[in-house]
Amino acid sequence: MKDINEIRKDFPILEKKIYNKPLVYLDNAATTQKPISVVQKIEDGYYNANANIHRGVHFLSQEATEAHEQARQKVADFLNANSSKEIIFTRGTTESINLVVSSYGEAFLKKGDEVIVSQMEHHANIVPWQMLRDKIGIVIKVIPLNSNQELDIEEYKKLITDKTKFVSISHVSNVLGTINPVKEIISIAHLNNIPVLVDGAQSVPHIKIDIKELDADFFVFSGHKIYGPTGIGVLYGKEKLLDNMPPYQGGGEMIANVSFEKTTYNELPYKFEAGTPDYIGSTALSTALEYIEKIGIDNIAHYEHELLSYATSELLKISGVKIFGNAKEKSSVLSFLIDGIHHYDMGLLLDKQGIAVRTGHHCAQPLMTYLGVEGTVRASFSFYNTKDEIDIFIKGVKRVVQMFQ
Ligand code: PLP
Repeated sequence: MKDINEIRKDFPILEKKIYNKPLVYLDNAATTQKPISVVQKIEDGYYNANANIHRGVHFLSQEATEAHEQARQKVADFLNANSSKEIIFTRGTTESINLVVSSYGEAFLKKGDEVIVSQMEHHANIVPWQMLRDKIGIVIKVIPLNSNQELDIEEYKKLITDKTKFVSISHVSNVLGTINPVKEIISIAHLNNIPVLVDGAQSVPHIKIDIKELDADFFVFSGHKIYGPTGIGVLYGKEKLLDNMPPYQGGGEMIANVSFEKTTYNELPYKFEAGTPDYIGSTALSTALEYIEKIGIDNIAHYEHELLSYATSELLKISGVKIFGNAKEKSSVLSFLIDGIHHYDMGLLLDKQGIAVRTGHHCAQPLMTYLGVEGTVRASFSFYNTKDEIDIFIKGVKRVVQMFQ
């Protein structure tokens, strides 16, 4: 991997002092920091390349349109999708899932049909399905976890019935770090002709995605979790499925022709992009993907795994510590509690030392209920973090433990 000191220079925020202490940013699963190239792309977009896209005959509009479409192609290439028509820009993972649930769900599911999710889902992959349940009466079934907090694949197989019409599953748990065997999950579903949505919010920043190899029907992620801007995300969908789905929102670019009697819809991908899209965000996301590719996703995975192993072994030396998420395949997320210390207190007292971690239920309350806790402390690592920062974090945790003794 490129020299870590050089990498850190690309992220000026990492130089920030918090309460006069160097910032140790370990909240990367919530959102990642942005490299200079991404911020410059946004700045340059507004200063030099800003015009509403698709509708203009003038130079600037055409240039902005081209940049937006090139960004779409970049995302398609990044995922190894067949065509840029399969890439819909959304506001993020949450909107992408809501789009599929509303459009596909309302068109193709009916009362009594079963949708399988898992015990470790983020609320973004639970609540939209519950809203559909309340509207049309689908049944939600839940894949349980084994003692290592991995999905129980045998139980998953047993959940599939003639009524199962959709599987919607996270690739990587934002709480446990568990990397789910999505390829296997998908192939089992496909044996039964069931489409699968993969929530890639926590996987794209850490794992190489080859959508053709995975064979996911839908794959969703957020720009801000992969070093891109907030407010932009992606829905990948197989062209045949997207083609048959009704639009999600109406207006703007999604139309072909409008009269008061009848409106016809645009072709893919525009059918799902009503209103002015975030064309500055899409181009900055493309720059973020280029940045990631330059460092190399395999290098990133390898380095982050070293950080995770080191942090895990150091944390386990502290008495009373309990780590949640012991999967064999795990990404760089470390959730824990320490006996007698509330997660919120740990988060606050680490913050006072300049260390940013996340505390609480992490938008996964059903998982918290299963784990029998109200919340956890979560440290999540990026390729710009260092072993020295892990040492500061561990020292910080020890200091909090001393305060409570
Ligand atoms: N799914 C998972 C697994 C996540 O970790 C998150 C965010 O933490 C989301 C979905 C929602 O992402 P966003 O808020 O960017 O839409």
